[in-house]
Amino acid sequence: MSLLDVDGLVKRFGGLLAIDDLSLSVDEGELVGVMGPNGAGKSTFFNCVSGVVQPDGGTVRFDGADVTGVDTATLARDGLVRTFQHTRQLDTMTVRENVRLAAPGQPGEQPVSALLRTSTMQETEAEVAERADELIELFELTRLADEYASSLSGGQRKLLELARVLMLEPDLLLLDEPFAGVNPTLTNEIADHIRGLNDDGMTLVVIEHELETLTELVDRLVVLQQGSLLVEGEPEVVLNDERVIDAYLGS
Ligand code: ADP
Ligand code: MG
Repeated sequence: MSLLDVDGLVKRFGGLLAIDDLSLSVDEGELVGVMGPNGAGKSTFFNCVSGVVQPDGGTVRFDGADVTGVDTATLARDGLVRTFQHTRQLDTMTVRENVRLAAPGQPGEQPVSALLRTSTMQETEAEVAERADELIELFELTRLADEYASSLSGGQRKLLELARVLMLEPDLLLLDEPFAGVNPTLTNEIADHIRGLNDDGMTLVVIEHELETLTELVDRLVVLQQGSLLVEGEPEVVLNDERVIDAYLGS
């Protein structure tokens, strides 16, 4: 059975059809890449799946349950977590505070943690602190743990964002352009972390705008164009597909 099953998804913004009858499934344990030119509907797809916007049609099933239109906080509690194209750390907090406050049940100003305050997943402060420090270590941010997030580079912010979402212990993690604006060294590092999470059993869907960045990383590539599925399949096959080449040249 698929972990994520999207069927006939439609999302309009006024007269614009951002998602046009999109059907897509992701199996448990898969690592899927979503590509497409700017404006293809990649982020909107994540927004519909993760409860950020309400779809106008279609259904989203997660782990067997219909979760169409369910809010972000509830989905996060159920194990479906996404990151945003533009990172949302609080610049007025340190790296360590940002990671700790991402945990469910922690007091804080972030929308997810605020809404999860009544969660049954309450952890003790010491447990949260320990897990936060482990993640900070994993992402090689220990040296920067007491610096304000505002002092981080673009790539370091992406690593911090990963550390934050992992505090939520997702089953399905949706990453929106985790490599955007990141230098080649950090890009490789982030790709290694994504691979490692997948090796440990996490299901991931990764959006990337550039051709080829995902080829080495993912099991399957999905290409969106104008809100619809253009091509999907093995990365090498998809990248050499005429329709994909045309879509990119035409954009
Ligand atoms: P991508 O992530 O593939 O670049 P998006 O999903 O961000 O594309 O956008 C798809 C289309 O929907 C674009 O034309 C974009 O301008 C439009 N769009 C996305 N979000 C909104 C919104 N909140 N309000 C109005 N239009 C939007
Ligand atoms: Mg986008």
